Amino acid sequence: MGLKSRSLENTFPTPLQGQCSPFYRRQSVSFEYLSPRQVKRCDALRQLHLRLVFCVLKMALLMASGTMKNPKDSKPEKDRSRSSEIFERGKKTLVGGVSSPVRAFRAVGGTPLVIDHAKGARLFDVDGHEYIDFVCSWGALILGHADPDIVSAISDQASRGTSFGMTSPLEIELGEKITNAITSVEMVRFVNSGTEAAMSAVRLARAFTQRDLIVKFEGCYHGHSDGFLSEAGSGLATLGISASPGVPDAFASLTLNAPFNDLEAVESLFKQHPGQIAAVIVEPVAANMGVVPPAAGFLEGIRAITTREKALLIFDEVITGFRLAYGGAQNVYKIDPDLTVMGKIIGGGLPVAAYGGKRKIMEQVAPLGPVYQAGTLSGNPLAMRAGLATLPKLQTPKFYEDLNNKTKRLADGLRSALREANVQGQVNLSGSLLTMFFTGQPVRNYADAKQSNSARFAMFFQEMLKRGIFIAPSQYEALFVSAAHTDADIDRAIAAARESLASIQAD
Ligand code: PMP
Repeated sequence: MGLKSRSLENTFPTPLQGQCSPFYRRQSVSFEYLSPRQVKRCDALRQLHLRLVFCVLKMALLMASGTMKNPKDSKPEKDRSRSSEIFERGKKTLVGGVSSPVRAFRAVGGTPLVIDHAKGARLFDVDGHEYIDFVCSWGALILGHADPDIVSAISDQASRGTSFGMTSPLEIELGEKITNAITSVEMVRFVNSGTEAAMSAVRLARAFTQRDLIVKFEGCYHGHSDGFLSEAGSGLATLGISASPGVPDAFASLTLNAPFNDLEAVESLFKQHPGQIAAVIVEPVAANMGVVPPAAGFLEGIRAITTREKALLIFDEVITGFRLAYGGAQNVYKIDPDLTVMGKIIGGGLPVAAYGGKRKIMEQVAPLGPVYQAGTLSGNPLAMRAGLATLPKLQTPKFYEDLNNKTKRLADGLRSALREANVQGQVNLSGSLLTMFFTGQPVRNYADAKQSNSARFAMFFQEMLKRGIFIAPSQYEALFVSAAHTDADIDRAIAAARESLASIQAD
């Protein structure tokens, strides 16, 4: 009879067809003798049963991940069943369901966002919810999502060819814009990711100085090339990975770590390894252990030490370049590094990064010199057009002043929200970057950042998400403000933070 009705087939794939779960068997009905009405009822009952089981499982998971709270204090979860369904499907094919680890929400629990589209300061998920986005593709989108000028530049370029595999005027034009903006950068090489740029800059520094050791700072992140995966920030900090398996000891031993903002530690590494350190690499404003600005004299100090010791100073401005100022952090702090690593904003949301610096160093790179580095898609015309559409918009009068004022207002709002809720916390601010740490002590380095109460951060993150505010799903990342955020967006974020802090405090 009705056993092979479409609704049953759709609800239960082959293995379940023609059988009843114990729940239905107890009602002593057999499928062979069901009328269409009974089949429909049975179908509805089964769906209800499945839903109940799903709810119980979900509640158990939420309680286990610590995100379930007293319903009177906390806003209900948004229904993100479609996101959940898609993420579960993705997990079968993509490692952890993601293409980059922090996107999996491991540090904060719950279903990761699955995005349908984005516009301005808003992300829209596949369940139709809207979020004010304070991640902005991890800082790449200083103009917000789908800026009309960038969109039309990309679509125009798409019809003229997406990759030439040969030189085009576009990369020369973007190269000139970068060398004009960042005074220490006299020559530049385009690559496709910050990882590639930092890795290549280190190779070049080693070749130029004919030394092997590199000094980096705990909690800074310079991409995932082998030598940088020790005591690194960003996703490694989030997942608690202090050193990645797969990196041979021989490579790891060439990287020396010092605490950020600790000049004495840098001095002592140079004393222990005289004439062996090729370069010191630093995020001038650290943003991958959360935001940690340099202490007064720190950047000047490492410039003086590296000059004295004939080692190179590499600024990793993947986040700070064209964000803290058009000329990057080096322009704000008036430091002249030997090499600079860039990414994110210079590609306007497409995969572009670059390394550059003093002519006499850059001339060591092939084809001018023997240091080899190449890339099939490097200088890609689509990506160059996106960068070229972005940079002039950052030069409009008061662009950075407005961006920084908005961010300062947000930081002030978050500080008063912390005070009102009587929650211990710190807001570190630099330009349009900020991080709220859940600790009573100032955060000046990675050890301080790790004192932050990450369980509390996870609860705060979830409460903000329920209120339509998306901040990075990790304590060790920056919050990014873009030109697309309005004053009203900032007010909404502050109001949401007030409610969220009150809610987690009531816990
Ligand atoms: N350096 C810094 C300072 C970064 O923040 C990042 C990534 N967030 C990288 C390098 C690596 O860039 P990518 O993810 O493009 O490889």
